[in-house]
Amino acid sequence: MENDVIEKLIEQFRTLPGVGYKTAQRYAFSIIEGKEERATRFADAIKEAKSMVGFCKVCGNFTQKEVCPICQHRNRKIICVVKDPKDVLSMEKVKTYNGVYHVLFGTISPLEHRGPNDIKIKELLARVQTDEVEEVIMATNPDVEGDATAMYIAKLLRPLGVKVTRIAQGVAMGSDLEYADEVTLSKAMEARREL
Ligand SMILES: [Zn+2]
Repeated sequence: MENDVIEKLIEQFRTLPGVGYKTAQRYAFSIIEGKEERATRFADAIKEAKSMVGFCKVCGNFTQKEVCPICQHRNRKIICVVKDPKDVLSMEKVKTYNGVYHVLFGTISPLEHRGPNDIKIKELLARVQTDEVEEVIMATNPDVEGDATAMYIAKLLRPLGVKVTRIAQGVAMGSDLEYADEVTLSKAMEARREL
């Protein structure tokens, strides 16, 4: 019976990305062995983040407000398109970037039966038109799906007279933006080329 409670905690940690059984067990023991107060802070932080953080209604980035601070304060004429909200955090390592973002919430993937209508492409087209956007930078991951999605969107945007660029392959082929460092991302951004 007692073990059930521990197993339950281990199972919860296991639901996190990249956490296997051994690691989940270590995390669980660390919580149990630590101070009561630490466990409470941990649990509270999870609850608070979950209830207070949502998605920006303009760009899809994580935010505690209706519209995120990036959308509120930066140049709306340049939009950097990414796959997931966490990619906004990665791209923000590029300190020279002063434009805004657009989160697609996925990429086009025939294998996973995800078509253009299953990700936020319509919303991007609407923004490009209403905000008189000058440049759209495609920063989807440099893998097969990311490239295909970038090409697809570029084709839709071209008739609207907007410049569409793709970040350079400084980010290693097939890798995630998430793992790229500041220098690599800054170079990839600087060396972006027109699609
Ligand atoms: Zn936003």
